[in-house]
Amino acid sequence: MIIHVDMDAFYAAVEQREQPELVGLPVIVGADPRGRGVVSTCSYEARVYGVRSAMPIGEAYRRCPQGVYLPVRMELYCAVSQTVMEILDSFSPLVEPLSIDEAFVDAAGLEGLFGPPEQMAERIKAEIRARTKLTCSVGVAPNKFLAKLATELGKPDGLTVIAPERVQAVLDPLSVQRVFGVGRRTSALLESLGIHTIGQLRLARPDALTGHVSVQGLEHMQRLARGEDDRIVEAYRNPKQMSAERTFMVDIASAAEIRKHLLELAQDVGHSLRRRGFRARSVRLKLRTEDFVTSTRTRSLARATDSDRVLYRTACELFNRTPPRRRLRLVGVAAADLRTGPEEEQGTLFGPPPEEVQQATIERTVDRIRDRFGLASVRPAALLDRRPPRKRSR
Ligand SMILES: [Mg+2]
Repeated sequence: MIIHVDMDAFYAAVEQREQPELVGLPVIVGADPRGRGVVSTCSYEARVYGVRSAMPIGEAYRRCPQGVYLPVRMELYCAVSQTVMEILDSFSPLVEPLSIDEAFVDAAGLEGLFGPPEQMAERIKAEIRARTKLTCSVGVAPNKFLAKLATELGKPDGLTVIAPERVQAVLDPLSVQRVFGVGRRTSALLESLGIHTIGQLRLARPDALTGHVSVQGLEHMQRLARGEDDRIVEAYRNPKQMSAERTFMVDIASAAEIRKHLLELAQDVGHSLRRRGFRARSVRLKLRTEDFVTSTRTRSLARATDSDRVLYRTACELFNRTPPRRRLRLVGVAAADLRTGPEEEQGTLFGPPPEEVQQATIERTVDRIRDRFGLASVRPAALLDRRPPRKRSR
């Protein structure tokens, strides 16, 4: 079984802990309410007024003028996050952090130490509460998709178990929007075809969706609708590579369209590298054509990089070298040959050219925004008509 842990209203809860007079009040952490920024996190008391994460701060202020508006104190939250991750590390050797306040914990083989997974989850919650004075929600289930879903179902301060024999009973009545990776566009499409619940999606006949969703796309969604997900928990402390890939619902012929996906994937990988302090000495492009032929192409870099732009440019060069003649069903970008540490190998006497330094500053700023507000909050103009990237790096 896998345990998913997610802190409740994290930044706002930390602020309420630091300033006990704020307990019970609508606390909104984010940009200056007179400015044009967004809400980062808000307390459950603020959610009653319809305030949500990523909402423009001005709108939050209209809905909840009596709220307590606080600036983001990232260093404080990072310190608390570290304590939470240490606690999780003390329970399992396999902990996979997903963000500052969220992680998967593999409970397999730990029954002798902590009892059955549900009991282990209870102990994790208790330990986090004792050491941080904060609550979290925890989901216990046979795989990642279900464990994260279980957490969502129990928020806040929940402990939700989806036992293997109850998977279908829990999933079937839920909205198709709960299926991992089904975005607004796909769910609107499914609903227009009369498929509203996960149960309906699971039982949908392929011919009912012909022309709307590829056979493989439907198979993928129906696997999740059955509660199947074979991704493992990866404690990526010393990863060989970090990658992101995407399988398309509909095979793609257009090179321009592929390059847009490469840009999203490069950003996804770059963000993972920077978040974990890695740089890559080579970039790998993975392509799978409509007839299921998979190929990879690799290029070494003169200097280790964690830059979205370098990753993107290299992936495009690899792609342009021989654009495939068939339509593509999958593309992936991987950063390989990883190293850690500061820029010990600048390569040139004078360091990187100024525009690269400037680009790195921009990317780090964007990272901070994305860490706070989610992957969709900042994106290049070329991607504005697209759904946010699905986080699948490792
Ligand atoms: Mg959270």
